[in-house]
Amino acid sequence: MHDWLAHRARTTPDREALVNASSGNAWTYATLDETVEEMAGRLAALGVDEGDHLGAALETGVEEVCLIHAAMRLGAVLVPLPPEFTPPELAERFDRADVDAVLCDETTESQVRGAAERVDPWLDVFTIDDAEWSEATPLATADPAPVDPTDWERSDTQLLLFTSGTTGTPKAVRLTMGNLLSSAVASAFRLGIDPTDRWLVPLSLHHMGGIAPILRSTLYGTTVIVRESFDPGGTVDDIREHEATCISLVPTMLRRMLSARGTLPGSLRFALVGGAPCPAELIERCRDYSVPICPTYGMTETASQVATARHTKAYDHPESVGRPLLRTTVTVVDSTGAPVEPGEKGELVVSGHTVTPGYYDDPAATGEAMGPYGFHTGDVGRFDEDGRLYVLNRLDDRILSGGENVDPGEVVDALRQYPTVEDAAVVGLDDEEWGERVAALVVPAAGTDEDETTEISVGDLEPFLRDRLAGFKLPRTVGVTDELPRTVSGTVEREAVRERLTECETRSIGRD
Ligand code: ATP
Ligand code: MG
Repeated sequence: MHDWLAHRARTTPDREALVNASSGNAWTYATLDETVEEMAGRLAALGVDEGDHLGAALETGVEEVCLIHAAMRLGAVLVPLPPEFTPPELAERFDRADVDAVLCDETTESQVRGAAERVDPWLDVFTIDDAEWSEATPLATADPAPVDPTDWERSDTQLLLFTSGTTGTPKAVRLTMGNLLSSAVASAFRLGIDPTDRWLVPLSLHHMGGIAPILRSTLYGTTVIVRESFDPGGTVDDIREHEATCISLVPTMLRRMLSARGTLPGSLRFALVGGAPCPAELIERCRDYSVPICPTYGMTETASQVATARHTKAYDHPESVGRPLLRTTVTVVDSTGAPVEPGEKGELVVSGHTVTPGYYDDPAATGEAMGPYGFHTGDVGRFDEDGRLYVLNRLDDRILSGGENVDPGEVVDALRQYPTVEDAAVVGLDDEEWGERVAALVVPAAGTDEDETTEISVGDLEPFLRDRLAGFKLPRTVGVTDELPRTVSGTVEREAVRERLTECETRSIGRD
């Protein structure tokens, strides 16, 4: 397998490869290749070798894009880490991912050094000199060494990426060259490739959703546009200014962008929206404003997309994430691991070339996740008669209250229909009488004036919900908050919701 960037530097050297939306600087495939070669050379001179685990805690931006390519060129395994992590958090990841060296920048240096001291005082820490990136002086030390390009094998681990940790401690997922290539190809079959495509990437680059477009774009020979941090209105302006045609978002980002600017510019060919359930109401809003939304279901363990709907289909079937991608198979299984009858719901199990070979250094977790039909996602879903996939909830989200199973998603849907509720999360709280009781954290809708929010009357909620839900599904505890706690990929952090429900003033609703 060839080096994608080197290939592009030969075949389409003058095409725009990368744009820094903050500075306006741009790289063609030829100049990006030179910059990456320089960076790879410096890393090699510093001792980073094929197979080494290279941690990176960088502010999202061009340095990280270059690093993704440089690590690939060297055959090093990149371990992207959140730049906002504290030393103990980083130390835990250095340890679990067995990093051999870490790259930081000015903003992350003190945390990274603090973390390194905890794990291994001799751990190599390199700092990127953030001065003049376009002049190609990426690292403060070491002259570039000649880079001997690695021969890529499909089975080589290229990335160790941590999951979002929605269901517990984040897991370190191994992703191979083969996984990444298969994912890029399968995605292109669903979404098409236009050589003039311009991908705006506002998602964090230490997440699959952010890394995927960077790699794909290089394979496709298209342009990537990055900026350091996400800002809802600014991202809409970036689409317009840089004539972006493709964007990947999590639902909360899209919601905030629409609130900031009303709609998205017409240059967009599609907006991939995934990482968390995409409310039907958001899709309807997109239809009304002709935003080409493509709801997508994916995860770290499958190198991003599993299923994606084209936007026209999404408008017609707003609850669905579309059909599985080319050569990706989703099997719905019951609690014994056997496939269910067509149309029934159960756990989604994914197989195909995009599925990880397993978690790093964790055979127990890998063994638990892999079954005869593939990778057990922990998500519950079903197919309709036309083969469209619906993701309903997560297996361990279910609330068991007084012997009855409550699906939090159903309660969230009912709450969202209440006129002054913008968003809601539903969890189970320990309860002496019922084992667990249903509890809801709700976000009031924005008022007509900016910053003004409307009131939610918990008293009025009760009769409203009673008309829609059986008594045992009613949230008995309701809290109001400005914004739901979410992971970077947009899923609701259930533990944080529980904490907030114990902190904020809550009102109880009678059960029967
Ligand atoms: P952890 O595995 O550590 O608990 P996580 O599963 O949230 O965290 P990610 O790999 O970032 O980590 O997220 C993938 C998960 O996000 C999926 O398994 C699924 O639960 C959820 N998800 C992704 N897309 C959608 C979608 N369109 N609808 C509903 N859920 C989605
Ligand atoms: Mg997961």
